[in-house]
Amino acid sequence: MHTTYERRCIACRQANLKQNLFRVCRVNDKYVVDETYKLNGRSAYICKNKQCLTKVIDKKLLNRAFKTNLEEIYSNLRGYIE
Ligand SMILES: [Zn+2]
Repeated sequence: MHTTYERRCIACRQANLKQNLFRVCRVNDKYVVDETYKLNGRSAYICKNKQCLTKVIDKKLLNRAFKTNLEEIYSNLRGYIE
């Protein structure tokens, strides 16, 4: 069933509105934080809070989501933690 709460954070597993989530998207074998939410490609969502970002980085949860190692995107995400 379609709802607006279909996006789920990979750290806390809570569904959330997309504007409250970072979207990490795979584009042509590169991984980017999609600020527009419009890129096409496999994607994963992370809450825009320090707790979830830290968990994703520390536990490398994106590796599981994308089944590959993503050192570069973790350093990008670290930049979002003040
Ligand atoms: Zn979360």
